[in-house]
Amino acid sequence: MKILILGGTGEARQLAHKLHICGHEVITSLAGRTQGPILPDGAVRIGPFGGVAGLVAYLRAEAIERLVDATHPYAGQMSVNAVAAATQVSVPLVRYMRPQWTPLPGQDWIHVASAQGAAHILPREATVLLSTGHDGLDFYRMRTDCRFLLRVIEAPGEALPPNMLMIRSRPPYHLDDEIALMRDHGITHLVSKNSGGSQTEAKLIAAQRLGVQVVMIARPDYAPALEVGGVDAVLEALGMSAR
Ligand code: NAP
Repeated sequence: MKILILGGTGEARQLAHKLHICGHEVITSLAGRTQGPILPDGAVRIGPFGGVAGLVAYLRAEAIERLVDATHPYAGQMSVNAVAAATQVSVPLVRYMRPQWTPLPGQDWIHVASAQGAAHILPREATVLLSTGHDGLDFYRMRTDCRFLLRVIEAPGEALPPNMLMIRSRPPYHLDDEIALMRDHGITHLVSKNSGGSQTEAKLIAAQRLGVQVVMIARPDYAPALEVGGVDAVLEALGMSAR
């Protein structure tokens, strides 16, 4: 069977591996944002499709039989496009969605709807670990009364203000390192997306241990689709068994 995986996550790579060894023809699509991405098994295409129309054209041209949306939970636009395109072309779609994190015992998260909300809620003179990538930087820039430690995989294109220190690193992150990072920089607030998964959850445990306030940005809304929370569950939803 010919399957297109919308990727950009570790789980998309796991899925490509499993489908590949089962003998399926797998193509993984990457947005092309990360330099030197870890490549999955099977074929890879890189770059945007050009909206719903572009994805529809690609699904038709490649005679794709199944579409799997295994993008990051915050890649909301791609997920919306996937539903629209799959419907137009009548290709069955399965969405893999990581289960959300929930507050740890004794933790009281501040929930916000957006980066703008997170920037707004921070108290004066907060020292903030921003673990949300490049999203919403313009809103945090306006908080000249706070200090930020911006952790990113790729450096943003624009210069950063003096109250924003950047560190570049790539998950997975480990608890001891997260505790040391927060302690060394005197972090009072952690701004996070609710990405789920094990690769980056140590920051939440570190925040709990150190009494750092978590500000959690909500996931975007998605159009309804067949949605599962595990890699093997995707295989089952596609009518295939895991190996
Ligand atoms: P997004 O806002 O949903 O997507 C913006 C546009 O980028 C889409 O409309 C699409 O362009 C293109 N695009 C996104 N994912 C694509 C893919 N897998 N293949 C081809 N084109 C893609 O997504 P995003 O938040 O920018 O994320 C981009 C990629 O990074 C995704 O693959 C995602 O899995 C990965 N990622 C995102 C995050 C995050 O926090 N957002 C974290 C880790 C990894 P067209 O409409 O022109 O096709």
